Amino acid sequence: MTEAKFPSKSSAVEPAKPSVKLTRIAKLVYDSLKKKKQILTPYEIFDDIKSQNHNIGLSSIYRGIDLLTKYRLITYVNLGDNQKRYEVLNSKDKHHHHLVCTKCKSCLHLKTCIVKLIHKLIQKKYGFKLQSHIFELFGICPKCKAIT
Ligand SMILES: [Zn+2]
Ligand SMILES: [Zn+2]
Ligand SMILES: [Zn+2]
Repeated sequence: MTEAKFPSKSSAVEPAKPSVKLTRIAKLVYDSLKKKKQILTPYEIFDDIKSQNHNIGLSSIYRGIDLLTKYRLITYVNLGDNQKRYEVLNSKDKHHHHLVCTKCKSCLHLKTCIVKLIHKLIQKKYGFKLQSHIFELFGICPKCKAIT
């Protein structure tokens, strides 16, 4: 069915359960990411939480992020600029890519993996078996385009 198959989907990584115990800060981090529906850096999360009058240090945010990543409630997103960014991982969510606006930094989440479309082509043409990829698209979103 799906192209991307990973060898061990066994007990090593537990799926997100409602019963997972989250720290108060991890919950705040999760809520912040969920509310914004965007891909955020730890600092942006920190800013958002601070704006809600929570007195929390950046290192606590990092700990919260680690915990949420461990429970697979959020995931790391690589936008190719060496900045760590995270987004909420819903259980329904599949591996996907983004249209990133370089002006307002908003992200549109593409529904499917478009790289899949060229997987077969690459294997055939180059005899190269793809295992993973990083693929994000940058440009100007309709909102920003309307302003200029
Ligand atoms: Zn924009
Ligand atoms: Zn996404
Ligand atoms: Zn993909």
